[in-house]
Amino acid sequence: MIVVMKYDATAKQIGGVIKRIEELGFKPHMSTGEKKTIVGMVGNGKKVDPDLFMALDGVDAVVPVLKPFKLASREFKSEPTIIDVNGFQIGGKQIAVMAGPCSVESLEQTMEAAVRVAKAGARFLRGGAFKPRSSPYAFQGLGEEGLKIMAKCREETGLSLVTEIMSPQHVDLLCKYTDIIQIGVRNMQNYSLLEAVGKTTIPVLLKRGLMSTIEEWLMSAEYILANGNPNVILCERGIRTFEKYTRNTLDIAAVSLVKNLSHLPVVVDPSHATGIRDLVGPMSRVGIAAGADGLIIEVHPEPDKALSDGAQSLYPDQFDDLMLSLNGIAEAMGRTI
Ligand code: PEP
Ligand code: MN
Repeated sequence: MIVVMKYDATAKQIGGVIKRIEELGFKPHMSTGEKKTIVGMVGNGKKVDPDLFMALDGVDAVVPVLKPFKLASREFKSEPTIIDVNGFQIGGKQIAVMAGPCSVESLEQTMEAAVRVAKAGARFLRGGAFKPRSSPYAFQGLGEEGLKIMAKCREETGLSLVTEIMSPQHVDLLCKYTDIIQIGVRNMQNYSLLEAVGKTTIPVLLKRGLMSTIEEWLMSAEYILANGNPNVILCERGIRTFEKYTRNTLDIAAVSLVKNLSHLPVVVDPSHATGIRDLVGPMSRVGIAAGADGLIIEVHPEPDKALSDGAQSLYPDQFDDLMLSLNGIAEAMGRTI
């Protein structure tokens, strides 16, 4: 349920609503928009009589949120969420381009990727130091050493960092090094991990699970929001279908739909969505046309030597061309690259 305050409600009146929410055993969540303040009450599943709030001063309306995700919903917050990362506004007019290798393999490899993607106009360096691999025999990532390499690349290029977390025990470690924590498909429903990142305020890029519905994805975002972290970025990276010619099936409708259902920014990952280098460009353009706020793209200086995801990684020259090709689409959507 959400309590919509009158446009001229005072801090005292808002405080009165918060007090009542707490007395009833719920957790209040504020959404302060340009025109109105909304106080959401989530927490214990009990039914509440709306009149308990309508009777309070400054309350304009009490509206039930029928969807299971509450804080992630447009009902709770009608304006889009903009997440500031080192001065870059994710969810703002400029498309957030995140690019870099699948895995951090060495300083030379990651630095070369970083320098090239920064030169082409990306603002974020992606790279995995803790890698979720289907095989225990495959390269598992460099761990903290990989994070140090990424931090050096940030120093050199000014790019902000995105890297994946695998364990709740690593939250402090990742907060020390990175600007955005990525939760990958395999962990989208790892609720202790969602709670752990939810207890921080670091921006979280939450990928949609391989076999997750849109509602399950938004419920995972809700976990992070309900634990107090408002900085969630959703990432559509393809879902598993019967189709074998692509690695996954990019659910492009989900991008536009989720932009309507939720105020959270949405990023498209055309690399994991397709698994095929030649499809990364077209799917990046489609992503922007569908209303995505950003792209996360794998780029490797030598994809044929990559320790993971070489077949979907762009050569730096291809990334240069791709960036140029995005300008027109972004402009048509009222955005910039
Ligand atoms: C990745 O970004 O390299 C990755 C492992 O992603 P996903 O969780 O989408 O497979
Ligand atoms: Mn990858």
